[in-house]
Amino acid sequence: MALIVQKYGGTSVGDVERIKKVAERIRSFREDGHQLVVVVSARSGVTNELIARAEAVCPNPPERELDQLLSIGEQETIALTAMALHGIGVPAISYTGAQAGIVTDMSHTKARIQTINANALIKDLKAGNVIIVAGFQGINVDGDTTTLGRGGSDLTAIALAGAIKADKCEIYTDVDGVYTADPRVVKSARKIEEISYDEMLELASHGSKVMQSRSVEFAKKYDVVFEVRSSFNHNPGTIVKEEVASMEKVVVRGVAVDKNQAKVQVSSLPDKPGSAARVFKALSEANIVVDMIVQNAGRDGVATLTFTVPSGELGKATRALDPVLRDLGGSISSQDQFAKLSVVGVGMKTHSGVAAMLFQSLANVGVNIDLISTSEIRITVAIEQAKADEAARAVHTAFGLDRA
Ligand code: ADP
Ligand code: ASP
Ligand code: MG
Repeated sequence: MALIVQKYGGTSVGDVERIKKVAERIRSFREDGHQLVVVVSARSGVTNELIARAEAVCPNPPERELDQLLSIGEQETIALTAMALHGIGVPAISYTGAQAGIVTDMSHTKARIQTINANALIKDLKAGNVIIVAGFQGINVDGDTTTLGRGGSDLTAIALAGAIKADKCEIYTDVDGVYTADPRVVKSARKIEEISYDEMLELASHGSKVMQSRSVEFAKKYDVVFEVRSSFNHNPGTIVKEEVASMEKVVVRGVAVDKNQAKVQVSSLPDKPGSAARVFKALSEANIVVDMIVQNAGRDGVATLTFTVPSGELGKATRALDPVLRDLGGSISSQDQFAKLSVVGVGMKTHSGVAAMLFQSLANVGVNIDLISTSEIRITVAIEQAKADEAARAVHTAFGLDRA
């Protein structure tokens, strides 16, 4: 008998028929003698729909109210899943994030989990119930509902698995596992059997939507091994775990593309200590994730800083920088419609020539590189959004990742 945390994503619980199928799957695990804590997302499309409605009544909705609204998507599916289980004779109890004891910090829309008090959940589990937990939400110490960032149900599942020391954590989604590239874009992409936390983290934080990046960060920190697999079949998925020596044999494990990027350029910034600090402090206080920072060497007492932000945060970034630039001097310009393409692999630590191969494969399909950044196991280029899919296919082929 194992204690298993399972997470079913939006497509897997996309309508009542699919919710009933999920209930059947849960029943079969229970009949095999396992104890189950099941995290569910909102039906696919619901969170986007709620955001659109919020923006229709207010262009910049207060984040506290946004969280209040967004959390209802998951509240629908927990109740329906628990009901579907009752319908087939399986005792189940649904929990909101607050009821599951998921306490977060005070930030809204991207709150961080601080503690999990799972006593109530464990009591109901021991009494023989399947526990259904709303993904993507928690509560702060003021008693306000918070949400954990887009894709945050992955984090709920991994954090719960860590907190209750589950034997297994399974992330059920609409593809068979983690692929060498998004299988919807690169048809020749292959399923990866095993991947390290670090590689998964780099892929996730650079656009591979299959896992929320924060959830992978959490899994790495607390060593929560998890499997990504399909809710529509019984094929083995991808195991995500600590790096083992054999993983270094593969130079490039996968290609990630993030199409929702904007480039921000801050020019005529005084070339003196503290300027960059002021700029990035303002962005961090606004909770904006900045990437690909490049600063040109200062000339005539001024410097130019360039970086990328998610497209959806461009307005917020500009607003956050306005007062700083008024005070410091400097001007801001931005360009939307950028994409980031990344190649990732722990083998890069011990192999050379990856950058040359990447740049050549992009040149071969006429893609111009705007910015470049690297980590020990990743190279990222900022490119024109319209060419991103074609570029991903070319790079995937160049690194020999295509299915045989
Ligand atoms: P869920 O609703 O189950 O959380 P998501 O839509 O968040 O599912 O993530 C699954 C999707 O991620 C897939 O349908 C796929 O198109 C996309 N994806 C992007 N990159 C990858 C990759 N490297 N491997 C697998 N899927 C990927
Ligand atoms: N429903 C949330 C979202 O769409 C959380 C999730 O699906 O993981 O982002
Ligand atoms: Mg997801």
